[in-house]
This record gives sequence, structure tokens and C-alpha cells, in this order.
Amino acid sequence: MCGIVGYTGPKPAFAFLIDGLKRLEYRGYDSAGISLLNDDSVLTVKSVGKVVNLEAKRPSGQKHMHTGIAHTRWATHGIPSERNAHPHTDEKGLFAVVHNGIIENHADLRKRLEAAGHKFASDTDSEVIPHLIEEFYHGDLAEAVAAALHQISGTYGIAVISAMHPDTIITARLGSPIVIGLGKDANMVASDVTALVTYTRDVI
Ligand code: GLU
Repeated sequence: MCGIVGYTGPKPAFAFLIDGLKRLEYRGYDSAGISLLNDDSVLTVKSVGKVVNLEAKRPSGQKHMHTGIAHTRWATHGIPSERNAHPHTDEKGLFAVVHNGIIENHADLRKRLEAAGHKFASDTDSEVIPHLIEEFYHGDLAEAVAAALHQISGTYGIAVISAMHPDTIITARLGSPIVIGLGKDANMVASDVTALVTYTRDVI
């Protein structure tokens, strides 16, 4: 179980998220990734190894992207690799998810989703989440995430963004830690308060 950071506010999200991931490095991890909301699409970068490798992939135009989620992975299902690094998305790339924990019924869920036409891009247990969200989405992101999580047995701390929902991060937890940080004009999420302490002391 490794690190999650999310940010929505006036700052460029990429720099905030890289800083947060660096603060969580002490936990150990094998790969890292970030998804940013870019107008009406989700832009994702991933790398194997240290967070500095991810930082070197800073996407052009990132200064104008103010909402994003980030992850350091400690592989439990699928080898450490770029394709298995989080965030994971549905095949249309509309929903991006970072996940800490283990989804015990992932094989059954994956079989059902593949039979319904979903195309998987990784070997992780986590990837069932964005596909389930896509299946349950009818305009309300929080409702779709809740419906997706009702299908899951196991543990999770998650953060979700969607191309259809600017300035929004949905987070949830069961058996894995998540804190929400409230800023003056920004909100944050993390798996460990260490990632947020320099920005806010107001945490839920
Ligand atoms: N079980 C997930 C995976 O293997 C999440 C691992 C983690 O908590 O970092 O990708």
C-alpha cells in the first residue's frame, strides 16, 4: 500500500503533486504517475523508479492544469512497469483513478467487464475501478464511484478525476488511509498527512 496525493486549486497541480509524492517517498515504491485535468480531457504521465523520473516528464502546458491526482505504487498485482503504474483509466480515458490497497474480487469483475466489451490496459487489480465507474456513470461522478465501490471486496483508498467534472476530486476509503486537506482556496487529498502539512493544518 503506497502513496496518494490529489490537488485542486489555483496553483499548477503538477508541481504540487510532485512535491507531495516526494514527501511520501520514505514509504518505498516501484513506480509513479500523475493524471491532470486538461480542459475536457485527462492527461496522464507515468514512470518506473524514482519520482524524479516522473518529474522529468513534466507535460507542456501543465501550468494551466489546476486539478490532478498522483500515486506511488508498491505492486501487489502485476509487475512494476509503466503500464501497471497508476493512475488507471477506462478505455475512453474519461475517468482516472489512483488506488492503494487490494481488490480481492478483481478477477471476477474483470471477466464480467471484459465480456461487456471493456478493454484493459494493465495487469493490476486496481484497473477494474475506472471501468466500473464508466459503467455506472450517468452524469453524477460521486454516485458512479459509490456504485462502483459497492461491487468491490477488499481494501481501498482512492482518488478519482473525470474529464467531465472540472475542479473536482472524488475520494473514498475502506481499510486504507485517506486524509482530505482544506486550504484557503484549494482542496487536497493524500494517503498520509505528511504530504499536506506544509500547505494546511486543516484536515479531515
Ligand atoms: N494493488 C494495487 C496494484 O498492485 C495497488 C498497490 C498499492 O497500494 O500501491 O497496483
